[in-house]
Amino acid sequence: MPKWRLTVRRKIDYLHPQTNRSHEPPLAQPAGVLRFGVVMSHEAQREPSSRADPPWRRWYRTARWKRLRQDVFLRDLYQCRMCGDVISQPIERVCDHIEPHGGDERRFWDPGNLQTLCKACHDGEKQRQEQPKRERRGVWD
Ligand SMILES: [Zn+2]
Repeated sequence: MPKWRLTVRRKIDYLHPQTNRSHEPPLAQPAGVLRFGVVMSHEAQREPSSRADPPWRRWYRTARWKRLRQDVFLRDLYQCRMCGDVISQPIERVCDHIEPHGGDERRFWDPGNLQTLCKACHDGEKQRQEQPKRERRGVWD
């Protein structure tokens, strides 16, 4: 049900509390979808910095992650695994999860599941692979 309808219905309920709505589905609905074991509100899904952040978002800020990604870059000799370029600018280096971790701690921290990508490849090719819908909407069709 669209939000405005809910608002209108609440208003009607307020003005006419006697109205029989037993034939309609209950107003109480889950706040959002179940993701990574956390019920996120629709707002939280739009705002990544909200309190309802999934726990793995914090893992990216840990010293452990920073150390691990440096290890991965060094292991890959600072070379992008997709285009083969040596990435000289630290800001252009992306430590990418080959298999999306989906909140799984083991896959998140597994060096075997990590690869060095340049920002261009990560934001371009990789994103297209993970979001095939975007490609269909793209300028190429
Ligand atoms: Zn690349």
